[in-house]
Amino acid sequence: MVFYPPPWVPKLPFDPPDSITIGEFMRSEVHGRRPIAKSRNPFTCGITGKTFTNVESYQRSDAMAKALAKTMSWEPNTDSPWDKVIGVFSFNTIDYMSVLLAIHRLNGIATPANVASSASELEHQLRSSGAKALFTCLPVLETALTAAKAVGIPEDKIFIMDMPHHAQKPGFKTVDDLIKLGQSSPELEPLRWVKGQGARQVAYLCYSSGTSGLPKAVMISHRNVIANTLQTCIYEAVSRKRHGVETQAELGLLPFSHIYGLVVVAHAGTWRGDEVIVLPKFDLPEYLQAIERFKINHLLVVPPIVIRMLSSHDICKKYDLSSVRLLFTGAAPLGKETIQELLRRYPTWRVGQGYGMTETSTVVCSTSEDDIEVGTSGSLVPGTRAKIVDPDGKEITDYNTPGELLVQSPSVVLGYLNNEKATSEAFFWDEDGRWLRTGDEVIVTKSAKGNEHITIVDRLKELIKVKAHQVAPAELEAHLLTHPAVDDCAVISVPDERNGEAPKAFVVTPASMSSRNDEEMRAEIIKYVQDHKARYKWLKGGVEFIDIIPKSPSGKILRRLLRDREKEARRLK
Ligand code: AMP
Repeated sequence: MVFYPPPWVPKLPFDPPDSITIGEFMRSEVHGRRPIAKSRNPFTCGITGKTFTNVESYQRSDAMAKALAKTMSWEPNTDSPWDKVIGVFSFNTIDYMSVLLAIHRLNGIATPANVASSASELEHQLRSSGAKALFTCLPVLETALTAAKAVGIPEDKIFIMDMPHHAQKPGFKTVDDLIKLGQSSPELEPLRWVKGQGARQVAYLCYSSGTSGLPKAVMISHRNVIANTLQTCIYEAVSRKRHGVETQAELGLLPFSHIYGLVVVAHAGTWRGDEVIVLPKFDLPEYLQAIERFKINHLLVVPPIVIRMLSSHDICKKYDLSSVRLLFTGAAPLGKETIQELLRRYPTWRVGQGYGMTETSTVVCSTSEDDIEVGTSGSLVPGTRAKIVDPDGKEITDYNTPGELLVQSPSVVLGYLNNEKATSEAFFWDEDGRWLRTGDEVIVTKSAKGNEHITIVDRLKELIKVKAHQVAPAELEAHLLTHPAVDDCAVISVPDERNGEAPKAFVVTPASMSSRNDEEMRAEIIKYVQDHKARYKWLKGGVEFIDIIPKSPSGKILRRLLRDREKEARRLK
């Protein structure tokens, strides 16, 4: 059975445009965008209050594009977009979006990187995407410089984005320097795009491990982002209209380097005329102050932030959070009990969840504030179709019966860069069109209002989500295998109170180390990960020595057996 959005969800009024850039879509009012004159300032710094109007943001972006053309010797209509890839390795700033749109104005591709990345992780992203320049910011400059040097990006192609409370560093070009240069540079020739180019041309390379293996560059087209912006905004517009909320202040804390912050906050938020209050990172008092000072109405967060609000309720109580109407979480599971607890503390709030993934340019389904069933991830957004299948690929037609979710949507991405195998495993065609295997186990239920809701019940894929960041077991396993004390290993997800999940390693040591000191060896292995990997990938779930890693005859790790073993051990504790 194919599931569709419920009847109350308006259809997409037109096919998402496929011949314009995201930047053209963002400023054009003909595609349903709220008139720019009636929109709020798109980005305001939640710490300093510095803000740009829409027109200023676009002017900054245009000037930056002209300066980049000069600095990089790039023309908009010559050279392949693949020769114009630029990395963006920065905390959220009010210029982040202008930088992305400047790259697109040159027909280039942006690859946003997680600021928690270690130098070797960033190096991998810059190398595999073919980045030729890098935008970064001072708090992570050292990591940026190490990675850039390793891939041959010279220092004059590294640009510094302004961060609150950080002076500039002499010797590096800042975004403001670029803008000054751009203001005195000649106009760029218009982009000459042919029909359909926006559906084929990559706008962003975001990294995801998909259903298995190492992190891969996900090719997200201009049309994918435009489609998900429209899908999200049209879906939410119904209840906004009913509640008389035309525009609102939204929290801009989720990293713009991750698809959720990038599309739902930076793109959809500003396209519908909202004001995004930008915070570079989570600091509880700063976050609460920003809600109070800027009267934020819409909190977009991840589950660990909800958990932190509950455990620090004494601090939260000191702030006036009465402006908040909605709190939305996504990117990782959030338990029903936690939501109920939050609602007990803040009874006037509406709490919803969105579900999506990098491979769907974010939202597949989401809670409508007029049809909330606590614990579900709501209904399908317009233009989306879904199927649920059992392990043999047979369609499940009954409610409440778990199976893997398959998705069809104009926001489903093009595939993985230079990885045909992973692409054909995740995306497939049948007589009904092109489907994405999500690797998530879901059930469909009927809400009290009679609408179909999707609930994520388990993850079939290998992925671990720590603080909503992706951790690929295969990546940690490959790293651990380079340690002399590791003969074989497997990494699984274990529950973690603060971060939702944590990686745990099962390790087989070489026979020659049978007289090892377990405690010392464990500490050494944990440190080996800490020395090379982003903090959220550290083995917080611990290291357990084991005689043999259970594997199938073809050599596939039988993670289910390890997960069961772990569950049993926890039960007996
Ligand atoms: P990412 O590509 O980093 O956004 O990760 C996508 C994955 O996060 C999904 O495939 C799910 O496993 C998980 N995820 C996203 N949203 C939710 C949600 N609302 N509930 C449970 N898991 C989620």
